[in-house]
Amino acid sequence: FNKSGIFVERTLALIKPDAVHKANEIETILLNQGFTVLQKRRVILTAEQCSDFYSEHYGKKFFPSLVAFMTSGPIVAMVLAKENAVQQWRELIGPTNSTVAKETHSESIRALFGTNEQKNAVHGSDSEVSAEREIRFFFPNCIVEPIPMGQPAKDY
Ligand code: ADP
Ligand code: MG
Repeated sequence: FNKSGIFVERTLALIKPDAVHKANEIETILLNQGFTVLQKRRVILTAEQCSDFYSEHYGKKFFPSLVAFMTSGPIVAMVLAKENAVQQWRELIGPTNSTVAKETHSESIRALFGTNEQKNAVHGSDSEVSAEREIRFFFPNCIVEPIPMGQPAKDY
């Protein structure tokens, strides 16, 4: 919700270990595209935390190497706000595979800063439901629902 009490959609963005050294450039791009950064933290995930975050992919062939990659160094987690933020951020980052992105979406963040199907520079929530879960994962105290009028905000 913005200052006028009007809902603005949020999404979770991650800058992955392969692109953390380009975090400033990536942030400049997303600000120029009209996203607002509501929250930001630099974190190093444990394998257990990373497996939890990516639990939908548990059992897939690429899962162990995905966890190794995502825990290989610091990442930057951000809550982004914009109208239609989930879809808009997915469009700005481009296809999952950076090799494909370079061919088909050459201006996308994954084309500009990623390398291949795994090292693809950034993450974006794939739905509003995922966004809510993923924002809570990295920012457990972040307000993602309206505070009821006249009630103390102690639960936040
Ligand atoms: P996205 O990040 O676009 O939502 P997925 O949720 O399908 O893509 O996959 C999560 C992450 O796992 C990808 O961003 C990428 O880093 C990695 N990944 C996905 N597919 C593969 C693959 N076939 N081989 C290696 N890594 C992969
Ligand atoms: Mg995904």
